[in-house]
Amino acid sequence: MTPRPVTVVTGGSRGIGAAVCLRLAADGHDLALGYLRDEGAAASVAGQARALGARCVTVRGDTSEECGVERLFDIAGAELGTVSGLVNNAGVTGPLGRLADAATGDLRRVVDVNLFGYLLCCRRAARDMAASGGGSIVNVSSAAATLGSPGDYVHYAATKAATDALTVGLSKELGPDRIRVNAVAPGIIETDMHAAMGDPGRPARAAAGIPLGRAGRAEEVAGAVAWLLSPNASYTTGAVLRVAGGR
Ligand code: NAP
Repeated sequence: MTPRPVTVVTGGSRGIGAAVCLRLAADGHDLALGYLRDEGAAASVAGQARALGARCVTVRGDTSEECGVERLFDIAGAELGTVSGLVNNAGVTGPLGRLADAATGDLRRVVDVNLFGYLLCCRRAARDMAASGGGSIVNVSSAAATLGSPGDYVHYAATKAATDALTVGLSKELGPDRIRVNAVAPGIIETDMHAAMGDPGRPARAAAGIPLGRAGRAEEVAGAVAWLLSPNASYTTGAVLRVAGGR
């Protein structure tokens, strides 16, 4: 019998990460669900994943810290077996506004979580997957990487452009190790992130400027992530798959 893939999902307690966990559970993955603060939300998603037949461990930790990332992968390996997948998803924006008005701490936090955290997770996945004969990484980027997001969060957009560069470079570096590295670049998706940045009405307002006429749903991003992790994408690496309603 083919072993079930074991996939680490960072930021799996809410939003896009939670939808990814449930989609992957339905597709036959076992899961290590990383989260930072919301233990109840993580437990709820884990319960739903188990109801879909997956084994699922929840691990609290900050992906911007090396010890948090190492612990997440250590527990995944110890409890579930060889890690074959990573969905690098945990991300933050900080408050909306112009760069000239941004606080230093907010800028640093966005870079620490969205870029340094992604690098730490990719590095550990690269080490583990090379040792075990292969795997697949999906980085959750953003359409902001190419739109630039002036007036909103150019610093966030810059970390997502860096994510795209990381994806392309690492795909070439890790191809010989049979590790595929891809990204999805969502547009505006209905999650808690907009309220956290101070603008809960943002997805609804943005609809008029989106060719498909609406914001996206987390499940629609999860479908793209699941495909990139699946054998159907066995010859796809270095791709940045835009899931942005045409934006
Ligand atoms: P969300 O609803 O705010 O959820 C964020 C998740 O990340 C939560 O599970 C949170 O854990 C976790 N998290 C945040 N900082 C963390 C850290 N330092 N260490 C570990 N976990 C951390 O966000 P989302 O909208 O689903 O966004 C997910 C990803 O999609 C992000 O990379 C974001 O940039 C990207 N994205 C989102 C949109 C959008 O419109 N929503 C568009 C493009 C790209 P807790 O629950 O414990 O706080």
